[in-house]
Amino acid sequence: MKRKTSQITVGNVKIGGGAPVSIQSMTNTLTTDVDKIIKQIHELEEHGCEIVRVAVPDADSVKALKEIKKNISIPLVADIHYDYKLAVEAASVADKIRINPGNIGGNEKVKEVVRAAKDAGIPIRIGVNLGSLEKDLERKYGLTPEAMAESALRAAKFIESLDFTNIIFSLKASDVPRTIKAYKLFADRTYYPLHLGISEAGSFFSGGIKSAVGIGSLLLDGIGDTIRVSLSGDPVEEVKVAKQILSSVGLRKFGVSVTSCPTCARAEFDVAKVAEEIENKTALIKKPLHIAIMGCSVNGPGEAKEADIGIVGGKGGNLFYKKGKIAEKVDDDKIIEKIMEEINNQ
Ligand code: SF4
Repeated sequence: MKRKTSQITVGNVKIGGGAPVSIQSMTNTLTTDVDKIIKQIHELEEHGCEIVRVAVPDADSVKALKEIKKNISIPLVADIHYDYKLAVEAASVADKIRINPGNIGGNEKVKEVVRAAKDAGIPIRIGVNLGSLEKDLERKYGLTPEAMAESALRAAKFIESLDFTNIIFSLKASDVPRTIKAYKLFADRTYYPLHLGISEAGSFFSGGIKSAVGIGSLLLDGIGDTIRVSLSGDPVEEVKVAKQILSSVGLRKFGVSVTSCPTCARAEFDVAKVAEEIENKTALIKKPLHIAIMGCSVNGPGEAKEADIGIVGGKGGNLFYKKGKIAEKVDDDKIIEKIMEEINNQ
């Protein structure tokens, strides 16, 4: 069952309180290189990113935030470490501020950031990270999920004492078991929405798998209100993986989804090539369509009947399915063209 939470609003996106689980990503270009970062944000948005976070490491980046904000349409989150003054300044521009209680410099600094967020009417994400916990908690608990949960709970209690509850939390470690445990410990004790992620997850391959296991298992337990897949590399890949995680756990549907068999000696055409090309060609299509690409008649007809469009390998011509029914036979070299034509007709 979905965990009940309070709701926050980030720009025009609601998080928690029954809202759909949203997708976030983070830019990896210099914030001060305004043209480049705006271009990257537009690209992220085009691929389905719903909230974007940018690093704000200095005063020039705060200035750049204003220009960025004017030129994008998805909500903008300012990511601040160490210098609370940057967070205070960024609050008048960004739609949300992310701070880390382990490195912002103590409660007095947090108080200033809360005041600025309150004045601006925006939420704050408290992003606890195993790599930058408060020293006393690290001494008491070691680098454990208990220390992460305690850090988040401590921050929650202090911010509540300032009469501010417009907050969301994340508790990230770079390994899956500690991340899951930390989120669960915190989720059991609060009603705040949660931003899920595995910190520094790694490359597309390892990071994608770690994120799918960690974020996916929490979502299946009803925990999590917005997600960010952290990958070393192009953030567009983060968005693609995030969409796949959300659709795999049955929480959201995004455009075209492809089912394809792993192939074996029975395959009658190059399933992998067709599946990859169709995925690439349909990456930006928003229409929710299910395509089945199957190598032969062993499992092919069953999958093709469930899909909007299907192709099943066969001797003497591959069977093309439309809405669960065989429509015609298609030669190997016409499969991709035929599927694309049908997608465009639907
Ligand atoms: Fe092999 Fe046919 Fe199954 Fe594909 S559908 S894996 S080709 S048996």
